[in-house]
Amino acid sequence: MNLRQTFKDLIRRGRIIKEEDPRLRTPCEEVTVFDEKLAKQVDKLYDEIDRINKSTDDPGEMAAGLAAPQLGMMVRVFVINTESFKRALANPEISAIGKATSSYETCLSLPGRHFMVARPQTLTVKGQNVYSGMYATRRLHGRDAQMVAHEINHLNGIMLDQSAVEEVFP
Ligand SMILES: [Zn+2]
Repeated sequence: MNLRQTFKDLIRRGRIIKEEDPRLRTPCEEVTVFDEKLAKQVDKLYDEIDRINKSTDDPGEMAAGLAAPQLGMMVRVFVINTESFKRALANPEISAIGKATSSYETCLSLPGRHFMVARPQTLTVKGQNVYSGMYATRRLHGRDAQMVAHEINHLNGIMLDQSAVEEVFP
């Protein structure tokens, strides 16, 4: 990795905790109180995604999802921010998993590493609104399903290097 890339990685990583940090391998706590503190934690996740996306013009470097433990917050919350699915969910659960397909994936907590991973092409996710605690269910496909599976793994303390089929060296 050259100096320019190293610098870029540092900027991109920002407040995102490093891959060696044991918090990334620790299951997160269920959310039981939907209060101001939780809303602030969600704001931090959205702010971090914004910050990363303002730092690059390359669509391949854009952040489209972030899980709370990646900022050291050990709660079961993630934010997904794609064209077709923009939502913060608490206590998300996956059901009705469709056929798996292999795809290429990266993780902001594993900078510079690339993996092949098997992900469901469709799934149903059920979770709670982070502000009201109300339950919502949504059927997702393609990249959105892949991202939800990735982020829920984070909440269970499972990193991409543990769930991947293989590491890819570009
Ligand atoms: Zn990740």
